[in-house]
Amino acid sequence: MSFTIPPAPLDIAEEFPELVPLARATTVLYPRVGNPARDESSLGGPLLWPADELWPTCAAPDHFNPARGCAVAGPDPVAVVPVLQLLARDVPALVFPAGTDMLQVLWCPLIHSEHDQYSPVPVLRWRSSADLAERPPLFKPPRPYEFDDEWIPRICVVHPTETVEYPNQDMPAELTERVGEWSEQVQESCGISYYDAFTTQQSKIGGYPGWTQSPNWPHCTCGSRMEHLLTISASESCGRWLPVEERTRPGCGWEVSDNPELEDNSHGMIMGDCGGVYVFVCRTCPTWPTVHRYDC
Ligand SMILES: [Zn+2]
Ligand SMILES: [Zn+2]
Repeated sequence: MSFTIPPAPLDIAEEFPELVPLARATTVLYPRVGNPARDESSLGGPLLWPADELWPTCAAPDHFNPARGCAVAGPDPVAVVPVLQLLARDVPALVFPAGTDMLQVLWCPLIHSEHDQYSPVPVLRWRSSADLAERPPLFKPPRPYEFDDEWIPRICVVHPTETVEYPNQDMPAELTERVGEWSEQVQESCGISYYDAFTTQQSKIGGYPGWTQSPNWPHCTCGSRMEHLLTISASESCGRWLPVEERTRPGCGWEVSDNPELEDNSHGMIMGDCGGVYVFVCRTCPTWPTVHRYDC
């Protein structure tokens, strides 16, 4: 079920016509604690995984659990954990490889080397639900023997909701500066900033990466700049994007609204400090290679 996002408080095209070509469609996921079925879209929920396929493990030589100091986890491979499962019917804007209609994202819930930006390392699978229907499902996937619980999401249903956003930082420096100044003015006069009204920081598909630091776009080995595929973000409730269905105070519908229960009702990952993991894909290369970035 989709949520309802309040309309934009101001006409951004009127204020900044140069932002219009930078608008991007995005699907905000809105993970909320729940009990998704194995064959439904979810964040942190059970995956529809074929029993005849090995569950992925990570054998990085230097991954570690910070709660136990910086000691390396051990020589045995660590089972990855479910992070996201999306069915094409729930995210119509997501482009799938031919013949597939399900995306699964898992990651090793340990901290990895500097090369992996001291974050978990995502693993993706694009699947065909027709193919999965012919294979018996795995009912009890292995659990990691060592993990950093900051990177284990609570089990959530998702409410994918399509919207349009504008760049947070992915625009020319001169425009960033002018937008920033204007944002301060509207924050004063209207109670909401450009960033809270026109850019999303939540877990999402497409749109712009929800950077909390300077943009760090990866390039594929083929030379193309990779596309932002999805963000898994610690931030789940900000500004205008708090859905109408979850607002606890009446109002004109777009002002910054708080809902203290929301963070308890979402995946619960702090991800460093309001951080995010951003997955990028190259759809020019036939195998659709992916890489990730992490910041906080
Ligand atoms: Zn690992
Ligand atoms: Zn490529």
